[in-house]
Amino acid sequence: MAHVEDLRSQVPKREERREESSIRKIIRHHSATTSGDFWSFWNQTWSQFTPEWQTGGYHEIILRDGTVQVCYAPSMVTNGAAGHNSYTYHICLVGDGSFTDVQEKSWHERVQRAMKTLQLSVSDVLGHRELPGTVTLCPGIGMSEVRAALWSGEPLTGSESSILKIGDAGPQVQQLQTDLIQAGENLSIYGADGQFGTETEAAVQAFQRKHGLKIDGIAGPRTMEKLEEVLSQGGDTVNDHTPNPSHQDAWKWAQEEGLLNGKYPREPVTREQLATVLYRWHQMIKGES
Ligand SMILES: [Zn+2]
Repeated sequence: MAHVEDLRSQVPKREERREESSIRKIIRHHSATTSGDFWSFWNQTWSQFTPEWQTGGYHEIILRDGTVQVCYAPSMVTNGAAGHNSYTYHICLVGDGSFTDVQEKSWHERVQRAMKTLQLSVSDVLGHRELPGTVTLCPGIGMSEVRAALWSGEPLTGSESSILKIGDAGPQVQQLQTDLIQAGENLSIYGADGQFGTETEAAVQAFQRKHGLKIDGIAGPRTMEKLEEVLSQGGDTVNDHTPNPSHQDAWKWAQEEGLLNGKYPREPVTREQLATVLYRWHQMIKGES
């Protein structure tokens, strides 16, 4: 069990409360700092920037040593994601795109607990930047990886050193290669063989060049995030010779065709991806007839 520091009676807070049943999403954040806790965040930021709000940013904060600071009850609206606070429960891991194994263990335990209390599922666990209209690097980790760990029931490990570079080998490299191929990069000689050699390095560099990242051939958090973002948008749009329909077109078409009932799959992003696939299939059939 994670060590819990209950700060709920000590922290500054507003009077207003919400129904727990109005909470629909659990949001993962990072602090974008390499250290800190509720009180340092309060003193340095929240007390100065949100005097009218009188409440901190997160319901729970997981410190580098795995200690969990429980700051607010779910019935409190906190200040974690502008425009989305009324229906969200915020858990922040202290770190800047890198987290310790004990933090991941505490996250795993706390998010399971929150899902149970709030009657939500793994697909309701989102990263800050997955919220509509949000541009941020937060939570500094690929959320597919985070959700996969939740589905598997085992906490993530090694997210502190989730950097892949030349000479590395194994399933993580293979996944990276598969993603690069799907994103339109060239791995025509060795394919997804699980060995990070010069071909993979060149593919990472090409991807970084295309997306305005630092071109070092090392797949670190920024590159991984961008890769996930590109794949969530239906893959590469630069090398593809057939024009990619925009999600909007796909969404509109699939709805007009009555192919999506708006309920399943539950995540809007997944529904968009599905719409894109259906739209492409529709265009292909049209082209053949
Ligand atoms: Zn955030």
